[in-house]
Amino acid sequence: MSWDLMALLLLIGAIWGSFLNVCIHRIPLEESVVLPNSRCPACRHIIAWYDNIPILSWFVLRARCRHCQTAISPVYPIIESLTALLTLSTLLHFGLTPTGIALTVLGYALITLTVIDFEHYILPDVITLPGIVIGVVLSLLPWFSPPLASWQNALIGVTAGGGGLWLFGWLFQRFAGKEGMGLGDVKLTALLGAWLGWQALPFTIFAAALLGSFVGLLWIAVSGRDRSLPIPFGPYLALGAWGYLYFGPTVYGWYLGRPLMMF
Ligand SMILES: [Zn+2]
Repeated sequence: MSWDLMALLLLIGAIWGSFLNVCIHRIPLEESVVLPNSRCPACRHIIAWYDNIPILSWFVLRARCRHCQTAISPVYPIIESLTALLTLSTLLHFGLTPTGIALTVLGYALITLTVIDFEHYILPDVITLPGIVIGVVLSLLPWFSPPLASWQNALIGVTAGGGGLWLFGWLFQRFAGKEGMGLGDVKLTALLGAWLGWQALPFTIFAAALLGSFVGLLWIAVSGRDRSLPIPFGPYLALGAWGYLYFGPTVYGWYLGRPLMMF
């Protein structure tokens, strides 16, 4: 891939990141992500195009609204940079192919869900439910290849992912006496099963549980966070799935290749 093309992909990624910021901000409020134009949340001034350039504007404006000087969160340029890097790295790793592009779109959905879950403790149905359907549809089309799932693996993935995690949540609630898993997490797991197949789920859920409990305990220890507060699980499922894309086959090969297999 040439430097020109890589720079272009970063630029396209940053522009998509700007759109993801709109989604992250508006979807939990059940507002349209297309109209109206972006406004300053504090003074309601419409943000001019030259103040809305991904990443750069935040620095040019020194993180303040041009009109009312209200601080603009660093989350905006961070999301834009992250989306730019995700776009480039995914297309470099999986190729500028239908599969690479589909995985990039999956990454966009996961970034959006992650930030919304951290901020609001929800994984909105308007993303997860169409996401499940799109995953299954892609698996039926001829243009996509692994790590995207075949239709058989996608269907098992949706059923096992959704059903399995729902059962786990139900058992947890029954025996631990508190809600361990939201239905949003179940739908996200079904989504990941639809896109990446059931094979992705053991790695994803195990990595998510490990990461989630580690970060959760650290959070409680360091900041004295109230342990009765919910800990969002969606971000760790998203990160676990992304880890699977890169390391899953290696880890499975290592584990399943051991002489004393348990199963
Ligand atoms: Zn303002």
